[in-house]
Amino acid sequence: NLDFHPSGRHFLQIPGPSPVPDRILRAMSLPTIDHRGPEFGALGCELLGKLKKVFKTESPVIIYPASGTGAWEAALVNTLSLGDKVLMFETGHFAALWQKMALRLGLEPEFLGLTGAEGWRHGVQADMIEARLREDIDHQIKAVCVVHNETSTGVTSDIAAVRRAIDAAAHPALFLVDTISGLASADYRHDEWGVDVTVSGSQKGLMLPPGISFNAISDKAIVASQDSKLPKSFWAWDEIIEANRNGYWPYTPNTNLLYGLNEALDMLLEEGLDHVLARHQRWAAGVRKAVEAWGLEIQCQDPEVYSPVLTGVVMPEGVDADEVRQLIYERFDLSLGMGLGKAKGKMFRIGHLGDCNDLTLVAALGGCEAGMKLAGVVLKGSGVTAALDHFANHPLEAAK
Ligand code: PLP
Repeated sequence: NLDFHPSGRHFLQIPGPSPVPDRILRAMSLPTIDHRGPEFGALGCELLGKLKKVFKTESPVIIYPASGTGAWEAALVNTLSLGDKVLMFETGHFAALWQKMALRLGLEPEFLGLTGAEGWRHGVQADMIEARLREDIDHQIKAVCVVHNETSTGVTSDIAAVRRAIDAAAHPALFLVDTISGLASADYRHDEWGVDVTVSGSQKGLMLPPGISFNAISDKAIVASQDSKLPKSFWAWDEIIEANRNGYWPYTPNTNLLYGLNEALDMLLEEGLDHVLARHQRWAAGVRKAVEAWGLEIQCQDPEVYSPVLTGVVMPEGVDADEVRQLIYERFDLSLGMGLGKAKGKMFRIGHLGDCNDLTLVAALGGCEAGMKLAGVVLKGSGVTAALDHFANHPLEAAK
């Protein structure tokens, strides 16, 4: 009985952190420079300009040396005051964590959502938001907060529809959106969709390691920040915006991650965002073909909002998804996302983002298929063959 010694590359198929391309790793390995020197200021200006293109905004994008959770907090503390009502929508585990944070900060979140079997299997219901905002005649609700790509379920909500709902109710609430796992893999448009604060992170579609996160902000959000009373210092936008004018930060920024970010932005913009998005859609379609061929259910129940970033695979009744995942990890050196919160033990998540291609995905699906068989999961057919056929028959150019 030989011990298992992994060789070759680990398959990091969780929905973030995503595999980091070698080009980015190399960029990050350069020597750290003086963050107050001229070379750094030039880098700061360059990457802040390119970053706007990825968020599709003309307004400032704030970068924090923090994980996505920090940028969530920054979005709330910069715009709101103690006791403010905020309307949030329960799409899954990450929406629930943001709501918990709002409570801890002394806000009054109201958590809308679908209940029972429908919960966590659909996107944000814009009509429910509109109906609630119409009832709020004296405008007690100060912000609407939603998650764009719910990483715990694999559902990408229609953000433009939520904007239309807020407008239809003629409500002045700020619109705050978490696209931590959506940006640069799923279509996202900060300005066009009238978002006031977009929250994002480095370790998903931007293909970087964890460690930096973002707030893209609107003029309305900047105005709100001038009246907002929640305590803030490190997260406060004003000093950062001021220092960013010359490409600097008011504190020591995460220099080597910024090298990586600059490289990632070059990669995305050289390829073209439309191409990047089509690539993820195509991968997601191939992975769904595999799940269908296995005869298993996808966590997302609404094809309109299937995520291009990840797919949640529901295990049959009586199968512990965590045991299947563990077996796959131990036998095939493949990491899959676990079921989080209410979905714990019921499903696993396959990430299709970061440094991958058709064949790495087919290999990952191979690990899933073999592992499920070993765990005794009854499969209808071969998902690997279905995905391979899909990729072979749908060249990327045709997917655009
Ligand atoms: N929101 C979403 C949608 C996420 O996927 C994550 C992390 O996976 C977070 C928030 C929290 O970000 P972090 O873990 O980087 O703090």
